[in-house]
Amino acid sequence: MTKKNPLFNQIVVVGLGLIGGSLALEIKRHKLARKVVGVSRSKQNRKEALRRKAVDEVYPKLSSFVSEADLVILATPVESIIQLLREVKQWASPQALITDVGSSKLQIVNEAKKINLKQFVGGHPIAGTENSGMKSAELNLFKNKKWILTPSGNPLGYSKLKLLLKTVGAEVLEMPAQEHDQVLAAVSHLPNIIAYTLANTVGEKSRRAKNIRFAGSSLKGMTRVAASPGEMWRDVCLSNGKEISKSVADFQSQLKIFQKALTQKDSQKLLNFFELGKKFRNELDLKKL
Ligand code: NAP
Repeated sequence: MTKKNPLFNQIVVVGLGLIGGSLALEIKRHKLARKVVGVSRSKQNRKEALRRKAVDEVYPKLSSFVSEADLVILATPVESIIQLLREVKQWASPQALITDVGSSKLQIVNEAKKINLKQFVGGHPIAGTENSGMKSAELNLFKNKKWILTPSGNPLGYSKLKLLLKTVGAEVLEMPAQEHDQVLAAVSHLPNIIAYTLANTVGEKSRRAKNIRFAGSSLKGMTRVAASPGEMWRDVCLSNGKEISKSVADFQSQLKIFQKALTQKDSQKLLNFFELGKKFRNELDLKKL
């Protein structure tokens, strides 16, 4: 790969939000494509992407320009990725590699199989913030972060995709889609749902009692991701409901253990509960998260 011979000729990024916009910025910064074309429905995201030089051209929807692409990246909420696969198939060249960034994988991968989209590779960057839209896109978002790919078959251009992701700073890991959804339900989806649950629980009470002014840094830290777009989490839950339900049940079991120890004033069990959580937290490699 040289400046004159970039990895890809034309990359189309559909969804110029936090993830799609940040990736487009990195693709331009590292000159990984001759041309980057963005697709976003809102004028605001399209204008901002052009202003920040994340893309060379923008369109409000897919059309014949997609046939020029050798890589198409779908970076919209999960349910719309599922719908977009058919549309992309209609426009894209049969040799073009198609990938996505959705936070759940099995339904997306299954849909690609169902419509015989052989050139599809599922993807999920384990990176992000609570912010959304092109205005929040940032450089270095993927630096030293994991990027899971769920390859099946032997799609053309797959090694180039891996090189692109490594060039933007990510560590590429491969995993079957089903395993991805099981693992991510516990380590990512559950914590996000708990953030919303906590915000709703505290919000409800404190609004009634007007006592939110007494909140401190624990509430701030623990509800940070509840500022993420609701549409994104609705789609993750709809597409990974079974695995998320299991994680929620595990969480409820832990709450029951705590509640029982509290009701019984069981000092040792309460201490065990807190020490176990503290041990887990201390063992986390925070620099890698
Ligand atoms: P975002 O900032 O809200 O961006 C999503 C973009 O998709 C929006 O800018 C929107 O642009 C477009 N969009 C929304 N709904 C759409 C629809 N129904 N049809 C077509 N386009 C639509 O969200 P994001 O954080 O970048 O998330 C994008 C994807 O990345 C999601 O699948 C999410 O699960 C995944 N992901 C997110 C994170 C994270 O931490 N945020 C991390 C890893 C993976 P227009 O309104 O202009 O079309």
